[in-house]
Amino acid sequence: MQPSVGPFVVDTRRAQRNVGHPEPFQVAGSLEVEGDPGVMPDPETPVVVVGTLQSLSDGSIVVRADAKGAWVGQCRRCLRQLSEPLDVQLNEVFEAEPEEGETYQLGDHSIDLEQAVRDNFILDMPLLALCAQDCEGICAVCGADRNDALCHCAAEQTDPRWDALNDLDFS
Ligand SMILES: [Zn+2]
Ligand SMILES: [Zn+2]
Repeated sequence: MQPSVGPFVVDTRRAQRNVGHPEPFQVAGSLEVEGDPGVMPDPETPVVVVGTLQSLSDGSIVVRADAKGAWVGQCRRCLRQLSEPLDVQLNEVFEAEPEEGETYQLGDHSIDLEQAVRDNFILDMPLLALCAQDCEGICAVCGADRNDALCHCAAEQTDPRWDALNDLDFS
């Protein structure tokens, strides 16, 4: 097995010598970002993970930790840049033969929390970023940010061809 490197790798030897005893740890680093640039973990904000790891008698390791970071994104309607803090609780099991989507890979003497942190962050981030639930968005006609000033495009958008119809007298 490849020796693990990366900011979220935690040495598990101490916990493995003291089975059943929660060992405190702290790691920090930036998350490599992949996926949707509309909403993603903020690569500029270091993620800090503080918690304990506990070795169980079956050889697996339980991690209970608090991970703090931030997400960045762009409002879907007005395209404003957004950034919000993220604070998630990790409660994860690491084992030699992990179950896909359930547990994570345990190395010989270490675990890498990066994937677990990313998975939990993604669950906690909004699917679609909005600066506010009632964001007015950008006017499709004139491009004005309607949160700043209401333009009058809607009022002026009537098609002049309909005016002729309005003038017809059907009686
Ligand atoms: Zn907005
Ligand atoms: Zn407009």
